[in-house]
Amino acid sequence: MGKLAKISGPLVVAEEVRGSQMNEVVRVGEEQLMGEIISLKNDRASIQVYEDTSGLKPGDPVKLTGAPLQVELGPGMLGTVFDGIQRPLHAVKDKAGNFITRGIEVPSLDRRKKWAFKPVAKKGDIVKGGDILGTVKEYGIEHRVMVPPGMEGKVTKISEGEFTVEDVIAEVEENQITLMQKWGVRVARPYKDKKRFDHLLVTGKRIIDTFFPIAKGGAGAIPGPFGSGKTVNQQDLAKYADAEVIVYIGCGERGNEMTEVLTEFPKLVDPKTKKPLMERTVLIANTSNMPVAAREASIYTGITIAEYYRDMGYSVALMADSTSRWAEALREISGRMEEMPGEEGYPAYLGRKLAEFYERSGRVSCVCSHDREGSVTIVGAVSPPGGDISEPVSQGTLRITKTFWALDANLSRRRHYPAINWLKSYSLYLNDLQPWYDKNVAPDFITVRNRAMELLQKEAELQNIVQLVGPDALPDRERLVLEASKMLREDFLQQNSYDEVDVYSTLKKQYMMVRTILHFYDKAVAALEMEMPLEKIVSAKEKEEIAKMKRVPNDDAEKFCIGIMKSIDSTFARG
Ligand code: ADP
Ligand code: MG
Repeated sequence: MGKLAKISGPLVVAEEVRGSQMNEVVRVGEEQLMGEIISLKNDRASIQVYEDTSGLKPGDPVKLTGAPLQVELGPGMLGTVFDGIQRPLHAVKDKAGNFITRGIEVPSLDRRKKWAFKPVAKKGDIVKGGDILGTVKEYGIEHRVMVPPGMEGKVTKISEGEFTVEDVIAEVEENQITLMQKWGVRVARPYKDKKRFDHLLVTGKRIIDTFFPIAKGGAGAIPGPFGSGKTVNQQDLAKYADAEVIVYIGCGERGNEMTEVLTEFPKLVDPKTKKPLMERTVLIANTSNMPVAAREASIYTGITIAEYYRDMGYSVALMADSTSRWAEALREISGRMEEMPGEEGYPAYLGRKLAEFYERSGRVSCVCSHDREGSVTIVGAVSPPGGDISEPVSQGTLRITKTFWALDANLSRRRHYPAINWLKSYSLYLNDLQPWYDKNVAPDFITVRNRAMELLQKEAELQNIVQLVGPDALPDRERLVLEASKMLREDFLQQNSYDEVDVYSTLKKQYMMVRTILHFYDKAVAALEMEMPLEKIVSAKEKEEIAKMKRVPNDDAEKFCIGIMKSIDSTFARG
């Protein structure tokens, strides 16, 4: 037991907190507000409080709990909306009305709900941390109940039946096992080893999959100014990326934006199952009126939940929208601790904190066996003030993420969506993914992709000249570069999220689309050499067909594209 010495918004200082530990959860004041020790000098602790601290006064009691900030991991997380410290928002609402009352205790997982547990392990089996004891059904997902990390021994008891998350379903030696386990959020859950980035996370977004891919288990950043499409893109990824479980952390940009997520997300439909997307989503919501410390904790809560489903053997995609709001929470707390500020007032350890978060991504083999593999892919949105990515959060993020999708206000103003700038974006996963593309799409996929990229880069160079002297001054050969790159931009890169067919392209379709545009370009160049007049080339009717490709259903795309290529052959062969 200690006592309060100082209160500064979400940060309080307590004295005489003997025997406490870094990251220990404490209860502050008469109302027992929840807080976490974030710095400790002798018996003086700085505590970030997860609730409104008004009314606290020096001398108020501070109680140690002996436990770190933990989440409850077990069935019942999917489909639930939590706040940053895993309090389920609907349950809080039931108990306290629309606003979260201070000091309120609500368990993260429902204590009454019963789950049908089917054992897969038997009495007498020797098991260790990570081994699957049995399963329960959590919507469409098989929730695999695992031996908690670190535990080992003989199964002395295991039962089939209906259980709450607190009922004992098995015993390993003397340890009682429940459907739920707890884990401290600041510590990454263990795994056996990290795998190479050689599986593509297929998203169906052409500019991403073809040009700037992200590997399963990879980390990507999507920075962009207000209104450039961070949220739309993150939600599309949540819906369409081939991940089995989604963890979506919304750090409200402005109050109403988070309300939108809260009302909209539950309405999203999973394109694969036609069921609510929420059935395979854990949503963590920080509205702007929630305490900053909860926002700081939210990304750790989210990543820990993601790791838990990864450990079961699932591919998980985690979106954080936007990490800038998280960094601002960190800045505010650091400021109140009177730490030496770094760049733009952010703490000097901002970069390290960002790295620790993104490094929890990965495709891994599970702690108990090489046979079970799971992944957590992280995509973090960043909202740099004014869109200028020279600021610390963007820079710190860029240093660790290997895919970078640069949203561009000019493109969104021109309604070029997704407004991802193809000259500024990059992916460092391309080399690792090459064998995947070879095997799963086409052996020349990367070659085709690189040729298209070169055309777009050439266009950018030519545009400088065009701005000075106009397009007519360019040689015919270079006018064809402009023609082809315009097709790449308008008929390939632009993709409408609100069009049922266009919103998702299979890789085969993406590949055929690029090949068709390159085919047009190659044949046009050849025709020019055979002295076909430029006007005739650029008015070829196949251009209209190329513009229609994106709206052709995935299954029909290959045939459609081959048809265009044949037609191009005959049009340009005639001379
Ligand atoms: P941000 O989160 O960066 O502030 P949003 O994701 O809310 O921006 O996007 C702002 C608007 O831009 C959306 O409401 C939508 O009208 C449009 N938009 C963004 N991306 C797309 C897209 N891929 N397809 C169609 N419209 C888009
Ligand atoms: Mg947004």
